[in-house]
Amino acid sequence: MPLLNKIISTIKPSATLALVQKVLEMKAKGADVIGLAGGEPNFPTPKFICDAAIKAIQDGQTKYTAVDGTPELKQAIIDKFSRDHSLKYVPKEIIVGTGAKQLLYNAFMVTLDPGDEVVIPCPYWVSYPPMVQCAQGHSVFVPTTAEAGFKLTPEALDKVINRNTKWLCLNSPNNPSGSVYSKDELKALGEVLSQHSHMYVMCDDIYEKLMYDGQSFTTMAQACPGLKNRTLTINGVSKAYAMTGWRIGYAAGPEELIKAMKILQSQSTSSPNSIAQAAAAAALNGDHSFLSDWVDEYQSRRDAMMQNLADISGLKVYKPDGAFYLWINCQGLLGKKTASGEILESDMDVANYLLESVKVAVMPGSAFGMSPYLRLSTAVSQENLDKAAGRFKEAVAALSV
Ligand code: PLP
Repeated sequence: MPLLNKIISTIKPSATLALVQKVLEMKAKGADVIGLAGGEPNFPTPKFICDAAIKAIQDGQTKYTAVDGTPELKQAIIDKFSRDHSLKYVPKEIIVGTGAKQLLYNAFMVTLDPGDEVVIPCPYWVSYPPMVQCAQGHSVFVPTTAEAGFKLTPEALDKVINRNTKWLCLNSPNNPSGSVYSKDELKALGEVLSQHSHMYVMCDDIYEKLMYDGQSFTTMAQACPGLKNRTLTINGVSKAYAMTGWRIGYAAGPEELIKAMKILQSQSTSSPNSIAQAAAAAALNGDHSFLSDWVDEYQSRRDAMMQNLADISGLKVYKPDGAFYLWINCQGLLGKKTASGEILESDMDVANYLLESVKVAVMPGSAFGMSPYLRLSTAVSQENLDKAAGRFKEAVAALSV
């Protein structure tokens, strides 16, 4: 009898984390690699947040907490939804987890039966399909186009809904494309959803604070109040507050769903880390003025990198409205020959070529369900971005037809 079960045998490790690991290993061996494959801010966690964690330790907040989060953090989350989106929640509609990732996973685990479908627009964040697979659901991928800003249209949504459709998984600002759904676009999708009362929406808002060019963010429950009782909004402190390692995420949604997610959490990981919860409460309640400096910095890196890549023939770079990635079509590089005689046939080949020839690590679009594209993180220093652009040019110049 095989040791591993049928589900885990079909699941691949996270492509992003695998590449980040490879870069770390190359660096440990002394290679001068520029890593643009990861997805975490390069700023340190702000001092007032770290101070809150130190105080929590000194005050003895070192024990298990309530499974679904401390009352203080849940209140900070309730206040955040009220302040940012005019959405009213009560504590039993809120759950805190070990990162947004755990909450997404738990939500799928407690809602999907074999054969239930989850609509996932492409490109998507790498972990949605394997999570759906773990929960024995079925991912229904809906391609998007550059012309539609890599966003799901109401017509495309309407076409794929059937009686097995349980969730629509929406991520705005999107990882990897950086596209953002406007209030009107959310309303238009909401109109389709309102005709299918058996369906729920999972809104992954983890990049909500990283919006460019002065645009404002709207979440689905705010755009479509009539859908609030069918919406699970997932968020966390990882990206906005540079707290990826603290592992705190949160979700707001219907009481029945939150209760089930809490039961699963109680039998798997129990409460999230008590000290990190104190830090997350400080982050949500604190002065957010530092955020506008960070957003300005990300935006100026975006603009500089777009400018740097603009004159590389074979690439088409799309301007992201949010998050900290550049989403680049690399069709024009396919079919070209490397100095060692290999033909670049896919975005994976291009990503491998960049890593091997000029030591720049980027993610291939295939990891996000859309090819031939590359995803570059701009959450690294301007100096490294400039260096990476120079190497990118060098690698492309070395290709022949
Ligand atoms: N959702 C998206 C779209 C992400 O890009 C990530 C992290 O990369 C997550 C969720 C997970 O965030 P967390 O660190 O809170 O688990």
